[in-house]
Amino acid sequence: MATKSFFDQGDLVAVLTTQPLDRLLDYKAPEGGCFAGAFVEVPLGPRKVLGVVWGSGQGDYDRSRIRAVIRVLDVAPMREEMQVFLGRAADYTLTPMSAMLRLATRAPGLSDPPSMRKVYRLGSGTAERMTDARRRVLDTLKDYGGLSFTLKELAEMAGVTPSVVKGLVKLDAVREEDSPRDLPLPPLDPSRSGKALTGDQAAAAAHLGAVIGEGHYGTTLLKGVTGSGKTEVYLEAVAETLKRGRQALVLLPEIALTAEFLTRVEARFGARPAEWHSGVTMTERRRIWKMVGQGDAQLVVGARSALFLPFRDLGLIIVDEEHDTSYKQEDGVLYNARDMAVLRAAICGARVVLASATPSLESWTNVQAGKYDMVELTSRFGDAVMPDMRAIDMRAEQMQAGHWVSPTLRSAIEDRLAKGEQAMLFINRRGFAPVTLCRACGQQIGCAHCDARMVEHRFLKRLMCHQCGETTPIPTACPSCGVEDKLAPVGPGVERMGEEAAALFPDARIAVLSSDLFSSARALKEGIEKIAQGEADIIIGTQLVAKGHNFPLLTLVGVIDADLGLQGSDLRAAERTFQLMRQVAGRAGRADKPGTALLQTFQPEHPVIRAILSGDEEGFWRAEAAEREAAGVPPFGRMAGIILSGTDVAQVFDLGNALARSDAPLREIGAQVFGPAPAPIARIRGRHRVRLLVKAAKGVPLQEALARWTGSLRLKGDLRLSVDIDPQSF
Ligand code: ADP
Ligand code: ZN
Repeated sequence: MATKSFFDQGDLVAVLTTQPLDRLLDYKAPEGGCFAGAFVEVPLGPRKVLGVVWGSGQGDYDRSRIRAVIRVLDVAPMREEMQVFLGRAADYTLTPMSAMLRLATRAPGLSDPPSMRKVYRLGSGTAERMTDARRRVLDTLKDYGGLSFTLKELAEMAGVTPSVVKGLVKLDAVREEDSPRDLPLPPLDPSRSGKALTGDQAAAAAHLGAVIGEGHYGTTLLKGVTGSGKTEVYLEAVAETLKRGRQALVLLPEIALTAEFLTRVEARFGARPAEWHSGVTMTERRRIWKMVGQGDAQLVVGARSALFLPFRDLGLIIVDEEHDTSYKQEDGVLYNARDMAVLRAAICGARVVLASATPSLESWTNVQAGKYDMVELTSRFGDAVMPDMRAIDMRAEQMQAGHWVSPTLRSAIEDRLAKGEQAMLFINRRGFAPVTLCRACGQQIGCAHCDARMVEHRFLKRLMCHQCGETTPIPTACPSCGVEDKLAPVGPGVERMGEEAAALFPDARIAVLSSDLFSSARALKEGIEKIAQGEADIIIGTQLVAKGHNFPLLTLVGVIDADLGLQGSDLRAAERTFQLMRQVAGRAGRADKPGTALLQTFQPEHPVIRAILSGDEEGFWRAEAAEREAAGVPPFGRMAGIILSGTDVAQVFDLGNALARSDAPLREIGAQVFGPAPAPIARIRGRHRVRLLVKAAKGVPLQEALARWTGSLRLKGDLRLSVDIDPQSF
């Protein structure tokens, strides 16, 4: 932690680098000195690496051998509260600080010299000798409209060498210009008036305005059914924050949702906010990163990684659809963005607003315990009412083999089509069929590297593993027995439902909405816009359609398999299913037309299905909470997963058993260890994965015990260990 705020030339400074070392490194401050928190380039062996001046150096060894900082980068120093945040987040998730710093410096080329600040965009000339490589460059630029890229990123995206781009510059087919990285962002005007709010909405906005006015940390759950105006309300909270000169961050669970949201922000504040997610070009990311640090980006809209941007004065964090599982990062640093948002806000004195129609059990429990406050919007905006939800008892339906739309659902769809309204079929499975079975030998085609089935993607004409992404052409012969033409798809996926719908409703325009079918986020966004404008009669989609999109003409949602999430032993399955089904159903009848949601189920009397249909959230939560409390699991107890992986399954299990036997540090805090058992995904990319689950009471020093427990372990060969605090499934 910084003890001094400025270091003169030659003073010893401790630098945190992005390199995986478990300690700070000492350097001498460069000519001109440097501030605590300064981003610097330092020598490490023969290399130059990025780092941050973390505080005073120790200097407890030969001073003359300490090297000097090479240079201070031309960006705002890291603020002390950011250092605190990264430190606490590292402690919470048991992640090395270097990895946290990498998260916080995801602005590629941060240390680029000014000479590299050239960007490339489409020019006016034409390339005479059109080669394949040249065409790829031009097509890439055309795909991205007017955007510009650095040489490296353009070459990478087009899969060509930089010289191809340079060649096109000579022909003026590509234009080279100075990077816009330092161009200011257009200012947002929070004093413009928004929509006239309803009584409920105005009360919620007033509450948020009041707590924001207090200017300190707190979390509010903004609960309201889909279409009740949560977004309108939290835009008021954003306006209030901007008026006070502080910055705001809106986290969305899905990149595909940003486009619609940006448009709304533009309508409200007269300009578009900064965007931050994996679909943003690197040039733009550099610019945003810098503007956020200078306090010149008033509002950032983004994915979970936006939490690690260097805000100068963050006053508000909105987590929209806070219950969404995609807020949990499952790769690299394992963190839940909702929890990290609360941590960050607590450190910098910001308000958190968690918005959801179906809050997580965690947030609901925090409201009950008085840790969060809650504002609620109980009705949909305008005359829209919640959809009428009903079960279709599949045991009573006449079904043909290989078909999944029941006669009852079919006639409901026909009715909507006759009225010129839209219907949606929801199936939470990507691809054509989840299983490809050989009728000769009975084997299913599995992934060669993972413990997963290969899923047929007919549109891509390939089989794909949803764990590792491996694809292969669809074979004609069985890989196991070699017999030709006996492979058969089993079960429905979203693409197959598209086929079934086309056969059932030959005159309807059918749109299949699955991320696989769109080449880019842009194409997906356009697809969604077209559907919203009425260019489809039947929408068929996966989870993607359940999240926040507005389809004004949609009045019927049919869930193909409402039982899908109820199988398996995961203690969170009920909560997930409840949220997903309520969310999907909420798509229907947003405008002034009442909607209907029909759930195909084989177990209509299942308590979760009954709670979904009745909409008795409170009752559902209480029942869930009682079960979790009895089991001592989150949010009433704490859990951590230890994932061990390696190529040799016996070694991985041996390691797991050794760890389970040496559980003294855990027993000291009264924690229990379960396993080792195969992890929820038992093999990925050829690596076997074994999981130990740790269960502890609330309020015990779990992380500290976990660190002592796993820290004693020596990992031989290719064995790896990662800790997952608050795992998604248990
Ligand atoms: P939610 O975020 O709860 O799903 P939205 O804020 O997206 O709800 O509102 C649903 C729809 O109703 C949007 O099209 C929104 O513009 C409209 N709407 C909500 N409140 C108002 C209002 N007070 N005046 C005009 N339109 C509103
Ligand atoms: Zn695989």
